Order: sequence, then structure tokens, then C-alpha cells
Amino acid sequence: MIMGKIITALIFLNLFLVDGWAQNQNIITINQAAIVQHNGNDRHDSNLRSQSAQYAQNREAPEQTNIQDSQDRTTSESGGAFSVMLIGSGAPVYNPDRSGPSALVRQGKRNFLVDMGNGTQARLNEAGIRARQLNALFFTHHHLDHNEEFAPIFIGVLLGGRPFLIAGPNNTKAYVQTITSLYDEDIAYRLKRRNRTFDDVKDNWKIKELKGGEQFSHEGIKISTIKVNHTIYTIAYRFEMDGKSIVISGDVAYSPSLPELAKDADVLVIDSGGVIKKGNGNRRRRPPGGGKAGQKRIRAHSSMDEIARMAKDANVKKLVLTHFTPGEIDEVATKKAIAKQFKGEIIFGHDLMVVSP
Ligand SMILES: [Zn+2]
Repeated sequence: MIMGKIITALIFLNLFLVDGWAQNQNIITINQAAIVQHNGNDRHDSNLRSQSAQYAQNREAPEQTNIQDSQDRTTSESGGAFSVMLIGSGAPVYNPDRSGPSALVRQGKRNFLVDMGNGTQARLNEAGIRARQLNALFFTHHHLDHNEEFAPIFIGVLLGGRPFLIAGPNNTKAYVQTITSLYDEDIAYRLKRRNRTFDDVKDNWKIKELKGGEQFSHEGIKISTIKVNHTIYTIAYRFEMDGKSIVISGDVAYSPSLPELAKDADVLVIDSGGVIKKGNGNRRRRPPGGGKAGQKRIRAHSSMDEIARMAKDANVKKLVLTHFTPGEIDEVATKKAIAKQFKGEIIFGHDLMVVSP
């Protein structure tokens, strides 16, 4: 109890003494202190952890042996085997149980972050992953709920001093240029504290602006891309290593291109679109893509039927549903709807879930 009070006092002292960025660094320390205490069966400071982290931790262990929560912090320095960690499984509407869309493709010291929705930094901290460990930042598309934490994460990676890749559809270069120009003094100030200048780091990142259909590799991981249907230009990614493959759809309305990209993939992480909710959850739900039924409108998301069809056509082994809006999911009904067409494994994603091929 006394120890808990001392730690809390130290934390507040730190928060008052340091500037904004250093605060961010300290948040990592705070979380780690809380985690250490928690692991040591001392729960006094458990209020330091967010309810969301507890939610993730308290969930029943998934049935699949190769899916796990990322609670074993000792493994966070190395991602271990090729896998994908759902950093955020939520949607634009605030949900304390689910952060905004983000996924981390990992292998050893390779950490590729795909999308950076609201809460991404907090979840990365909870998983024990620092910005400087990220080797690449990918955007599926430039909707705010998928890119809103880019600026602090980008600057964090930049301060880390290692080379990294930024890739995404049109506007990716403009977005990076806007951030570097808007925060140039701030970045210079933070670099100066590390005895560096902007010139020292300006060549650390490469930007790839994608149209879909590209193939390239980064840090030994092969990356293929394809354009999928959404309300704005959207790229789906396939990551491959050692004969294993992980595909991330981004937001997706029905797209015949997605099964092409995801053909025979081990894991397909997909925008859950019209997932079935319990109780009144579906009562006010508009057709995927919004708008009133029958109205001609660009579709944003897929129905369960369309998700099942894309997964079946792709012949993927594991289908991981993510991008859930608030409300309780009817997993039985949803599974039943998808299983009419898709015979592979269906997994309901949650924050910090790790899925291996
Ligand atoms: Zn979107």
C-alpha cells in the first residue's frame, strides 16, 4: 500500500516536471510500473491501468491454441514468430473496450503497424511496444478513424533514429509533409534534446504512395497490395514470410479484388461490416455503407454474406473479424451466417489479441 502511494507520488511529480513529449515517455514508465505491480499480485495501483486493459485481460482465454492475449510482456521486445496483433478492434464511435482500428504485423524485431486509430498509442504501451520499435507505418486509407494517431507515432519513430517506411494510398506524402511542416519547430526541439538536427533524420523514412497491385519487400517481409472498394481510395495488404501469410483488408465494401490478394492466405483480418448484434443492436443499423435502404450510395462496408463470400473465394484458413461498433455481438448468429459459405475458422477479434498463421 505504501509502495503504491510512493509510486503514485513519483508519477505525478514526473508529470509536472517534464514537457509534453517527455510526458509521453513517462506514460510508458507508468504503465510498466502498473504492469509490474499487477504481475506481482499487488493490485493497489490497478486503477492506473485503463478499464480497457482489464477488459482485454479479463476476457476468457480464446479456444484456439495459437491465439493469445499479448499479456506476456517479456516477449514484447521481440515479436517472436510471424503473427498479427490486433491493437484496436473498434470503430469511429468511442468505445472504452475497443480502440480505433490498428493492427501490428510482427516477426522477431520487425513491427509493421497498419493504421493508427484512436487509442493506438495507449494499446501499444499496454503491449510493451515503443514507437522506436516500429519499422513501418502503413495506411489502408485516410479516414480519420484509421490515421488519427499518425502524428505522435510518426514523431516517436522519427526520434527513435532508425530507418522506417511509410506506405499508403494517395495523400500519404501530403499527410507526412503537413505533419513535418506543422511540427517542424517541435520536432527540431525534441531532436536537439538528443543532440540531433532535422537534417540528421530527414532521410530516415521512405514514403511509398500506393495504387494497389504493388509488390515489394521491407525488412525481409514480402508485401503485396490491392485496391479494395470503400468510400475513398483504400489499399489492402498481404504480408508474407517463410511461406506464411497475413492479409489485412482495411475498410472494405464487397470487393472481388480482396479474394485475389488473400488467395489461400493463412489469416485474413477483415472489417466486420454487418456483424449481427444482440438485443436492439441491429434495430437502427443502416445497410452497410450508410444511407436508407434502396438509396444509391457508395458502399463503405460489407454484409456478413459478402464477408463470407470473400473469405470463401479467397480460401483463407482463419478469418479474423475486427472494426466492431459498440454493442454486444451475437457470435453464434454471426458465425452461423458466415459458416453458410465459409468453412474455415472464424475468430472474433478483440484488442491485443494475437493471431498466428
Ligand atoms: Zn473507412
